[in-house]
Amino acid sequence: MRAGVGKGVEGAETLPDRPEPLLRDPLPVDYRPFEADEDRDRAHNLPLLSLYLVGAWTLAPLGWVWPITYLLYCLGSNLWFIKSICPSCRLYGRAACPSGYGRVSARIAPRGDPSDFPRRFRRNIGVVALGWVIPLVGGAVVLSRSLQSALSTLYALVPLILFSILGFYALPALSKGGCGSCPMRRECPGARFTVAK
Ligand code: SF4
Repeated sequence: MRAGVGKGVEGAETLPDRPEPLLRDPLPVDYRPFEADEDRDRAHNLPLLSLYLVGAWTLAPLGWVWPITYLLYCLGSNLWFIKSICPSCRLYGRAACPSGYGRVSARIAPRGDPSDFPRRFRRNIGVVALGWVIPLVGGAVVLSRSLQSALSTLYALVPLILFSILGFYALPALSKGGCGSCPMRRECPGARFTVAK
């Protein structure tokens, strides 16, 4: 009997209580799982959390409303990613997803078609990308207001530079392991930023 499928009172099969993971879609033959939790955290989740916290720091001189709103936006944008992009990934519902989002996605969104992955990615990735743009724009505003003193300029520059290093160098570099072993890497429009297809 398949996991999640039971027998009814009269012996008829009952429907599974949640979508089956993509066990019926074979993974590519060269697929290498990237499963260790510590690798997952090192490669994706902790650097991403660090990026968002530094982004909030960049916005802090504009008033406490900005960093709080920014962090809530980042949370929402990642949930949007999980709901709109992950369902068409071959790691939807699988423990091997490098970020762990794939298993969350199987709980909150119905399974999508893997061939629809590039279209879904292009249509929705901008929501997540704004999490990179907001601190850069806000940081530029803070910097422009801080030019009257060397110390305040330094306070504006440090988080802005740190955010840029994390967002445009460290995070893509650390994502190479997860993206390099992802079964969607040849179709994923974002893979060109982390790993050659
Ligand atoms: S590999 Fe990426 S797109 Fe696929 S389930 Fe995990 S987070 Fe979602």
